[in-house]
Amino acid sequence: MVMEFLIKELDKNYELIDCKVKKDKIIFTIQSTLVELECPYCRHKTDRVHSYYTREIQDIPLLNKQTVLIVNGRKMFCQNPECNHTTFSEQHVFAGKNGRKTRRLEDRILKTSSELSSVGASKLLRENRITVSKSTICEMLKKNVTNCG
Ligand SMILES: [Zn+2]
Repeated sequence: MVMEFLIKELDKNYELIDCKVKKDKIIFTIQSTLVELECPYCRHKTDRVHSYYTREIQDIPLLNKQTVLIVNGRKMFCQNPECNHTTFSEQHVFAGKNGRKTRRLEDRILKTSSELSSVGASKLLRENRITVSKSTICEMLKKNVTNCG
């Protein structure tokens, strides 16, 4: 299935749970297939789940529709007695720094913005069903280049 492939391309350790195609939006619900997760603080693996949560992450548009990933995440107990953290949240490697957009979407925004003013880029991206504000573009650009119009 094509939709399944799109998720595997994003991260091979994730599976597609649900897909809804709306008038101007595609919503994928996905989750990790890994049973054990590694504590980011001590690198020990654990399979003890503390709780579940979902996170919404904007992805690159498909079929000229805005694409949103509903990611089922877990909060885990670290079972290493020597670790100074008792719990940690699942890390989604495909998500960008602030966790609201995928890295591949951030790359596309940066590529568009580096060639245009942030107002122009915001407008063009919106026409391409990518929601991003001028100030977010500025913030993203500041980390990459110095001047932001
Ligand atoms: Zn730990």
